[in-house]
Amino acid sequence: MTWDTIILGAGAAGMMCATQCGGRTLVLDHAKAAGEKIRISGGGRCNFTNMYAGPENFLSGNPHFCKSALSRYTQWDFIELVAAHGIAYHEKTLGQLFCDTSAKEIIAMLRAEMTKAGAELWLETSIINVGHDGTAYSVTVEASGKRQTLTCTNLVLATGGKSIPKMGATGLAYDIARQFGLRVTDIRAGLVPFTFSDGRFKDISGVAHPVCATANGTEFDEAMLFTHRGLSGPAMLQISSYWHEGQSISINLFPDSDPFEELRTRRQDYGRRNLTTELATLLPTRLVDHLSQHMDLSGNLADQSDTLLRTLCDGLKSWEMIPSGTEGYRTAEVTLGGIDTDCLSSKTMEAKTQSRLFVIGEAVDVTGWLGGFNFQWAWSSGWAAGQAISAT
Ligand SMILES: Cc1cc2nc3c(=O)[nH]c(=O)nc-3n(C[C@H](O)[C@H](O)[C@H](O)COP(=O)(O)OP(=O)(O)OC[C@H]3O[C@@H](n4cnc5c(N)ncnc54)[C@H](O)[C@@H]3O)c2cc1C
Repeated sequence: MTWDTIILGAGAAGMMCATQCGGRTLVLDHAKAAGEKIRISGGGRCNFTNMYAGPENFLSGNPHFCKSALSRYTQWDFIELVAAHGIAYHEKTLGQLFCDTSAKEIIAMLRAEMTKAGAELWLETSIINVGHDGTAYSVTVEASGKRQTLTCTNLVLATGGKSIPKMGATGLAYDIARQFGLRVTDIRAGLVPFTFSDGRFKDISGVAHPVCATANGTEFDEAMLFTHRGLSGPAMLQISSYWHEGQSISINLFPDSDPFEELRTRRQDYGRRNLTTELATLLPTRLVDHLSQHMDLSGNLADQSDTLLRTLCDGLKSWEMIPSGTEGYRTAEVTLGGIDTDCLSSKTMEAKTQSRLFVIGEAVDVTGWLGGFNFQWAWSSGWAAGQAISAT
């Protein structure tokens, strides 16, 4: 069976690409349904883009690489598509756009656009191997126990990264890329909770607090959540992408204020009040209880000299710790690293040394922050490759 284009992976990037390719396009996926990560994303409402998306929201070996695709298919283009399909959405916070009803609407929209473009979708299809004879690609697949070899002119790798293997994530794109001589950078889990092997936050699991969290010089002002295993919440997921094993992270429990002046004023007026009682008006009570087991918070306000208060407040504004690790690919929202951008054209996503081989989405060494940026990269890179294919 001969196709103009075969796209491996019916996720966000693969489906978007299929809407643009034109010609005879086939999308293959081993999953039972297309767009499974879209379905579970954003708590079932899919944070499908971010109004403020720009190149500065992405990590990559080459921070300039994502600029071309992001500027040619922007968040506003995707928002227009969502609106044209009558999907209601809202901004939750920080420019993050979510469906009002269900992420399934985004999948249905992409499926409808694929149908309009004449693209075919084969699910529950295993990809056995891929080859190239100098003119065309061959893709051997197996479905319902039947094996066959398909050929195509354009091959698109859109099988994503390694995060959430339970949902069918594999390293297939990396393996095929290597087979054709493309480099793959080191990869690791990103947007992932931190773990502490001593279970130090078990007693305050479930407590959340807004913080400014820093790792490797990059900081994020968002909520933090203590868990049985360690630290989670948006602030922690964001800095996890900048953190490397063995490094410390810093947490500012008072991102918008300095409690020093506040506690000094209260010391004048209410010197006989307990320090912990006063702190519990500024921080969650369970967090203060936890802190009091690890630092000296005994005594009344009147017992605290300026020096003691300063030391305490500095500690609360710069709480340093070294995580044991992260929860890894099991729960990571993304895979950092991937197919080296040096091997790809930023305009078309085509491999520089392997004609008609394209790589899009999370498989590429471009990773977004939390907040709709990863889907925007999937849409933009998928669109760029699809347009390039349709132009040939
Ligand atoms: C829990 C969770 C929530 C998330 N929420 C958001 C969010 O709200 N906003 C946001 O921007 N990003 C979010 N992300 C990240 C986002 O889902 C990904 O960055 C995005 O889906 C990447 O798109 P992709 O098309 O490159 O890969 P995927 O969407 O992962 O698609 C890859 C496809 O390839 C298929 N595949 C893989 N290996 C094989 C193989 N060997 N054979 C055949 N098929 C294969 C898979 O079944 C899958 O359908 C979330 C991720 C997770 C895990």
